[in-house]
Amino acid sequence: MADHLRRFETMFTMTPQRMRMIVEAFKDSLELGLSKSGQVVPMIPTYVFGWPSGEETGEFLAVDLGGTNLRVCLVKLNGGGKFEITQAKYRLTEEQKQEDGEKLFDFCGKCLKAFTDSIVESGELSKDRILPLGFTFSYPCSQEKIDHGTLIRWTKGFGAPNTEGRDVVEMFRNSLSQHDVPAEVVALTCDTTGTLIASHYVNPDTKIACIFGTGCNAAYMERVRDIPKIAHLGIDPEAEMAINCEWGAFDSFEHEHLPRTKYDITIDETSNKPGEQAFEKLISGRYLGEILRLIICELIDEGVVFLGQNTYKIEIPYSFDTAFLSLMESDPTDELLMVIGIFSHFFALETTLAERQFFRALARLVGRRAARLSACGIAAIVSKMGYLEEGCSVGADGSLYNKYPGFADRIHEGLQDIFGEKGRNIVTHHAEDGSGIGSAIVAAMTKLRKDQGLYSNL
Ligand code: ADP
Ligand code: MG
Repeated sequence: MADHLRRFETMFTMTPQRMRMIVEAFKDSLELGLSKSGQVVPMIPTYVFGWPSGEETGEFLAVDLGGTNLRVCLVKLNGGGKFEITQAKYRLTEEQKQEDGEKLFDFCGKCLKAFTDSIVESGELSKDRILPLGFTFSYPCSQEKIDHGTLIRWTKGFGAPNTEGRDVVEMFRNSLSQHDVPAEVVALTCDTTGTLIASHYVNPDTKIACIFGTGCNAAYMERVRDIPKIAHLGIDPEAEMAINCEWGAFDSFEHEHLPRTKYDITIDETSNKPGEQAFEKLISGRYLGEILRLIICELIDEGVVFLGQNTYKIEIPYSFDTAFLSLMESDPTDELLMVIGIFSHFFALETTLAERQFFRALARLVGRRAARLSACGIAAIVSKMGYLEEGCSVGADGSLYNKYPGFADRIHEGLQDIFGEKGRNIVTHHAEDGSGIGSAIVAAMTKLRKDQGLYSNL
């Protein structure tokens, strides 16, 4: 086992020097994305102009068409970074994700109508009031203004026909008017931009937001003069605009910079989008369990583990959830009882103590690499924006960040490996709710901006 472990350590460990090389390449990709459209890392302008003041106030609706749930919220922004929220969640069925887009949006309209009826009834919303609404839609959209977005392609298991290539805000508005929902869509955002804005509303030191969930992404605030691809819009070069990086795409297709193992290559080649989302495939919750599973399957083929046992369950692709890595790493017992439980209960496999220790060590390697690569992405933004000296706070969200033991510590350790002592100036923290609070604040900011006649066409 020890020999095997050394082999994997070599494969999955990244030296500080290697990490610094990745950071440099990452920075170049970010800059390229800002300069021209259609680049690997798309660096999408969000039309969210600058930071919230913290004094945004009023009542807003927020709707998040997420990967798992449809979430609708009534958000009261009280100013001073304070808010109140009332919300409801509606589970999306697998069928709904594949049904015609019109039906999917019709469902959104119905749920929102039920929600607004209920808050009118409870007295939280006065009858006949029309509320401004922020719509969180975290699928890649090309946006020409903040209340418009053409779906480029579905991700995260959605496939609803007649939606790609169409303006999702228009589809959403149609369903709202069909159901007489007292709401006016003012802004379309994604979860990452919402997280950036919500985290800054509460903690103004926040300069970057990251999501580490099923996928991974980051957003930050950029100077308009440093976004050459929108120069034609005639926005004041000194203004600022939030950028949705869609950084999961870093190093896609060329695969020049990231340390991919043969397991990562297998995942990529057997995925429904080979070549794409290269960074995300090494980092996000959707893939970490699968990386470990592929290693274990190779060891089975080599006759190193589970000789004579029936291994069919663990041979099923994506059967090893990333949550299992969390559980294995946090097992407090000497016997590793949690690891026994995972293998016996979910895969009908018996393990020896040495094997369990080995699997746990493997989980550490995979989890640690993901966190250190995440640090590279954060470092690229920090370095590009010159935040190292003054320091900054990074709002982070998603199950991987929130539940994987030590994920944040490993990011911080990675930042110190990259930047030395000064890396301590960059600190991640659990972010505020981006798709509820964040989207409401974006709606509030947009309303204020348009009332002031500032870039009213955007
Ligand atoms: P979403 O990306 O849909 O917003 P989440 O942020 O909850 O949702 O992320 C879901 C991903 O997190 C899944 O890939 C899942 O495997 C992973 N995950 C769920 N629970 C844990 C956990 N305890 N530890 C690590 N990863 C987890
Ligand atoms: Mg999420």
